[in-house]
Amino acid sequence: MMRYSYDWLIVGAGFTGAIIAERLASVYNQKIWVIDRRNHIAGNAYDSINEHNILYHVYGPHIFHTNSDRVIQYLSHFTDWKNYEHRVVGLVKGRFIPIPFNLTSIEILFSQKEAEDLKNLLLHTYGINIKVPILEMMKNSDEKIRFLADFIYQNVFIGYTTKQWGLKPEELSPSVTERVPVHISYDDRYFQDKFQKMPKDGYTKLIERILNHPNITLSLNTEYNDVRNCNSFEKTIFTGSIDEYFDYKLGELPYRSLHFDVQSYQQRIHQPVAQVNYPNDHQYTRITEMIHFNKVYRNKMTTVEIEYPQPYIIGKNIPYYPISQENNERLYQQYLCLIRQSSKKVFFAGRLGTYRYLNMDQAVDQALTLVEKIH
Ligand code: FAD
Ligand code: UDP
Repeated sequence: MMRYSYDWLIVGAGFTGAIIAERLASVYNQKIWVIDRRNHIAGNAYDSINEHNILYHVYGPHIFHTNSDRVIQYLSHFTDWKNYEHRVVGLVKGRFIPIPFNLTSIEILFSQKEAEDLKNLLLHTYGINIKVPILEMMKNSDEKIRFLADFIYQNVFIGYTTKQWGLKPEELSPSVTERVPVHISYDDRYFQDKFQKMPKDGYTKLIERILNHPNITLSLNTEYNDVRNCNSFEKTIFTGSIDEYFDYKLGELPYRSLHFDVQSYQQRIHQPVAQVNYPNDHQYTRITEMIHFNKVYRNKMTTVEIEYPQPYIIGKNIPYYPISQENNERLYQQYLCLIRQSSKKVFFAGRLGTYRYLNMDQAVDQALTLVEKIH
């Protein structure tokens, strides 16, 4: 019988790959080889201290929030937490309004009389602390509610979504704009999850501790294609893009990419909250100022990250977002059929491997579930 050096090859050292590696190594005593093509661990959650001593999220703002006890419990073995609740404002008609759009947003944008009428109507129709997806609100039978919904759609959603995806809200799965529903509330937090904290020493340190196990060997700067034919592992977990794994045999799955423009300013604070959205102005979607995540404002310099969405081009940039549309889901399912027909022992996981718009906590949960199935 063939003897392998490793039970598993895990492609990708992001949240998904790291957690699967750790569980297989420590619970099932399996030998694991984790590879990543990048020169660092933590995937898109990678953060590092920059020249101004600011813990900087290299691939866009990553805010941890969850309602899952098992996810909190698992991650808390590897990190302490610091309190942080995310707040976002958007520039609309020259004013900064809370995003998600809420009752305060109405007060800022309408006259006192109009605002009172609109708020009463929303409270009467939906009730307090209710979240209503914009595409659903636009179908309400009440003309005044439809007027407000259309106003929000035009001023908050259409511009941002067109920049972010190159598509209109209704051309995407409703689940995309449902992430940021109209919130009939004065709660101005971006998320309402019961657990909203950031890992105390950052995401990279968290993943470093997860991967720190004697059964795990890590190779960075390593492409899957360069190791796929070597006989040192028995089974594979692939957290990269499924169409790339199959050499685009059935066609390319579309992804959206981003360009991050990083700027540092000689200011203690550049903007009032960590994230400012620009639905209607500029070519960028949002500016994030990382110093707010730590809430320590002693620095003389501050760093911001400006996000410019881009089409994804193979080999040129990074596939950050799967694009949630029916056709793409169908193509993904066809790729899954190829796995079932193949004799190779390979499992696909994570945001790219399952072509799902997963938040970090969902990636953790998916990884924990997969290990229970495959160990
Ligand atoms: P990834 O982090 O993408 O890791 C996959 C790894 O596999 C990568 O490091 C890649 O280099 C490697 N890889 C791929 N193919 C190959 C190959 N062929 N050979 C070798 N290596 C390969 N989630 C939140 O919960 N809150 C947020 O605020 C948040 N903000 C986000 C902002 C942006 C801009 C983006 C893009 C995502 C955000 N997310 C957020 C989502 C979060 O990044 C993901 O949930 C999480 O990173 C998924 O982890 P993963 O391991 O599945 O994938
Ligand atoms: N969105 C929008 N305007 C906003 C914020 C969000 O139109 O001010 C829409 C847009 O389509 C975006 C989606 O809601 O892609 C999800 O937003 P989220 O903040 O969750 O995006 P992410 O942080 O994952 O990039």
